[in-house]
This record gives sequence, structure tokens and C-alpha cells, in this order.
Amino acid sequence: MNEQLDKVAEALKKRGFKAVCCASGAEARDYVMKEAEGAKSVGFGGSVTVKSIGLVEELAKTGKEILRHGDPSLSPEKKVEVMHRELTCDLFLLSANALTMDGRLVNIDGNGNRVAASIYGPGKVIFVVGRNKLVDGGLDDAIARIKRCACPPNCRRLNKQTPCTLTGECADCSSPDRICMVTVVMDRRPRSTDVHVVLVDEDLGY
Ligand code: SF4
Repeated sequence: MNEQLDKVAEALKKRGFKAVCCASGAEARDYVMKEAEGAKSVGFGGSVTVKSIGLVEELAKTGKEILRHGDPSLSPEKKVEVMHRELTCDLFLLSANALTMDGRLVNIDGNGNRVAASIYGPGKVIFVVGRNKLVDGGLDDAIARIKRCACPPNCRRLNKQTPCTLTGECADCSSPDRICMVTVVMDRRPRSTDVHVVLVDEDLGY
């Protein structure tokens, strides 16, 4: 196992999070499926990481209520309704845009629904974080990572008309399609939420 993952897991535990290290995405999926056993409803934060390890399909098979605002079949009205319901689901799944070695989770969001649900509302929140999200530095380095490695590909994936979609670089734009509206640093586990961080020794998402 990657020693860095062990170190960051210890740092996360000191900050009140439950943290586990998994050797593969498959192992991370098994962990989440076990943690999901008591949940009647599961919300998804629109994470490429969570999707890539097959959790959407596996959880859909269990008969639980699946709340996925990123489902392309949803009408705009239904999408808003699902986003609201995700805020109070039993289990909310997402990744982090960056994770510092001293155990701080950093996310940049557009609507803020993803970060809101990660902080308060759902009974349990699980971040699935690939090793590529680790940042050996402080918050500035974490934000730089997000602007360099996460936002441009997310803008392209979501077909946003932003400068970074075209150039791959952040221009701190004023575009109506800008996805960088809210930056959230989770310094410690929010008091009312059971937050797990599943660290995976694979590159997952971006
Ligand atoms: S501020 Fe604009 S250009 Fe920069 S990463 Fe965000 S959406 Fe892209």
C-alpha cells in the first residue's frame, strides 16, 4: 500500500474523520456497499470517481432509492427536485477535488449542492478519493491542483462554455457557465455528520 495514503489516513483520523485505505477501486466499492447496507436512499454528488468504480450500477441493484441529479434523463425541474432530496438522503457519495497530506478536503462547486450535502443533511457521507487527488502542500496548492487538473476537464465533460474548456487553463473567468463559485475546505468532520474518507491506491477521476 502507498505509504502516503497511510499518512493521510492518520491525519484524517486526527481531524475526526473515519478513514480507510483501499488497494483498488473494487475494494473501495466493497467498502461503500457495506456502509450502504442500512441506507434507504443514496445520493450522488456527480463524481467521476464514484461512477468509475461501478457504484451507481451496484447500488441501483439493491432496490434503494437512488438520487442522482446527473442522470441525463431527468427534466430540468426533476433535476432540481433530486438535488434538494440529495440534501437529506441517508448516504451521500462524492469525491474530493483535492486532499492535503495533513487531512483537509477541498472542493470547488458551482451550484454548491454537492458541497452542501457533504457538510450537513445526509446521515452519512463517504468521500472516495484516488491517490491522484493528494496534494503535498497547503490550501493554495490544493486550489491550484483543482484549477489545473479538475475544473478544465469537468467543464469539458459538462460542455460548459468557459475559457478553460478551450485552453485547459483557468482564466478566473466571468462566464455565465463558470463552475467555480464556492470553495469549501473541510478542516474537521462537521459535528452532525458521519464522514468517511475512502483512500484508493489508484488514480481515479480528476
Ligand atoms: S474560473 Fe472559469 S476558467 Fe477558471 S477553472 Fe473555473 S470555470 Fe474554468
